[in-house]
Amino acid sequence: MATLKPVDQHLADILAAVRPSAPLEAELERAHGALLAEDVTAPVALPPFDNSAMDGYAVRAEDVANAPVTLPVTDDVAAGDQERRTVEPGFVARIMTGAPLPAGADAVVPVELTDGGIERVVIHRSVPAGNAIRRTGEDVGVGDVVLSAGTALGAPQIGILAGVGRRHVLVRPRPRVAVLSTGSELAEPGTPLRYGQIWESNSYMLAAAVREAGADGFRAGSAVTDDPNEFLAVLDAQLSTVDAVITSGGVSMGAYEPVKEALAPLGRVKFEKVAMQPGMPQGFGLVGERDVPIFTLPGNPVSSFVSFVLFVRPALRLMQGLDAGPPETVKAITTARVSSPPGRRSYLRGVLDGGLVTPVTGQGSHQLAALAAANALMIVPEDVTELPEGSSVEVIPL
Ligand code: AMP
Ligand code: MG
Repeated sequence: MATLKPVDQHLADILAAVRPSAPLEAELERAHGALLAEDVTAPVALPPFDNSAMDGYAVRAEDVANAPVTLPVTDDVAAGDQERRTVEPGFVARIMTGAPLPAGADAVVPVELTDGGIERVVIHRSVPAGNAIRRTGEDVGVGDVVLSAGTALGAPQIGILAGVGRRHVLVRPRPRVAVLSTGSELAEPGTPLRYGQIWESNSYMLAAAVREAGADGFRAGSAVTDDPNEFLAVLDAQLSTVDAVITSGGVSMGAYEPVKEALAPLGRVKFEKVAMQPGMPQGFGLVGERDVPIFTLPGNPVSSFVSFVLFVRPALRLMQGLDAGPPETVKAITTARVSSPPGRRSYLRGVLDGGLVTPVTGQGSHQLAALAAANALMIVPEDVTELPEGSSVEVIPL
């Protein structure tokens, strides 16, 4: 067999060509869902001042040690009170949750342990020093990193950004990735199937995979036919607005291969045979004026999915400023014999369960139902053609 390009080399070439997207300053509400591109520190401690954790009375603990006691109330401290107050020995201040603790006080008696008095209060029970007080810096110290670069900004993260006073943050927007399927045999799901047709599944699957990878994946409309000009027109329409393109189909050795026919003459996408199964025909390049990365994946559904996991997902991570490399693997023991072609690394679909991995029935690259029933890819190395039951294999959990 002609020499095939090693899987690791193909990934290395892709990762060397793509760049992290440029960070931009986003208004806080617009940052939701993006990836943080800076380490965010707290400019002040949180809480910024000692304050009450409950509605009650700020006291000197020693004054209530012999409860029940009746004490005069000198102050009423609400949340937001900006006066610096003091509780003198033998006196108490009424205080609300979040209000600053007056100097001199070292405990808060919850209102439930009192008669709730306004001018004088009967305190039924003693409390220890420090009771119901939230101390300065208990949540965050001055200068602490509260979120580090690379963090995905979900709701709690947006909360802490506001909580440390940030109105704007540096983020990397989710890469926008167009998915474009080719094939004259493809019918839209939801429409009737004519003889010779199959329903188009790859663009739905790949757009979902893009979203699972943290980017913004969308279908660039219905599948295009195997006419290279139609393909080029649809591609062109996307290039000015997207950060990457994934195509499916039209890159193998036969005729009617619109992706290859359209892009190969332009010389910017390299079409190669990678030493893997499924998914041998692969293409990658940078296209358009903005050097948009394009991944031209083979059309067989399982091939396109495996190619996505091996090549596209790491590239999307790199674009998002995250660590990028081959997919993480775990070791497992096979429960059945498996075989693999010589010289190609196989990614067999399997079910991983408690350290054991069972290959699913239906290892054809068109057998999408078998992929959907699997939760792992079992890796059989290039130089191995057969693995007996009970072998140790590397597995990519899906
Ligand atoms: P191709 O890579 O275009 O030669 O396609 C290889 C096989 O995958 C053919 O059997 C196609 O019908 C099938 N195929 C290609 N694209 C899709 C798609 N988007 N959805 C489902 N099957 C596809
Ligand atoms: Mg095709």
